[in-house]
Amino acid sequence: MKKTTSPYITVKNSAIHSQGVFAKKDIPDSTEIIEYVGEKITKRESDIRGEKVLSRSKNDVTRGAVYIFDLNGRHDIDGNVPWNTAGIINHTCDPNCEAVNIDGHIWICAMRDIEKGEELSYNYGYNFDNWQEHPCRCGADYCIGYILAEEHWPELLRELARRKKNKGV
Ligand SMILES: [Zn+2]
Repeated sequence: MKKTTSPYITVKNSAIHSQGVFAKKDIPDSTEIIEYVGEKITKRESDIRGEKVLSRSKNDVTRGAVYIFDLNGRHDIDGNVPWNTAGIINHTCDPNCEAVNIDGHIWICAMRDIEKGEELSYNYGYNFDNWQEHPCRCGADYCIGYILAEEHWPELLRELARRKKNKGV
């Protein structure tokens, strides 16, 4: 399979994590930039792969179960395939893109106007399980410190505060 591409992007080395995807030109807000493609798998298969990825991800914590996306009630997309260029996009705590399901296809869409040269990123949307295994080093001013869906940030902050107190720091 040929690697997917889009007129909006170019792949380069990234300060966040190995390679990243960058804006080749100015991208207006809400643009469907590139489709997140992969293997369509059943939820059952997805659970099995998810478990494997988690137990394997100890040495590479910034890339855990990131590749599996919810497609619909029955199927997921496993984007861990060499032709899925969108799989290279990094996570940040201050993203300029989001993953959107449009008619059963996952698209990486601009959340705001993006300038030529900016690195594209989206929140990987991890749930609260195993949060400690996914530290974030995105460098954003408001980096929460872990790769986590924003809806879980209050939970994380409470947990971190609790731990700090218990340590007597
Ligand atoms: Zn971060």
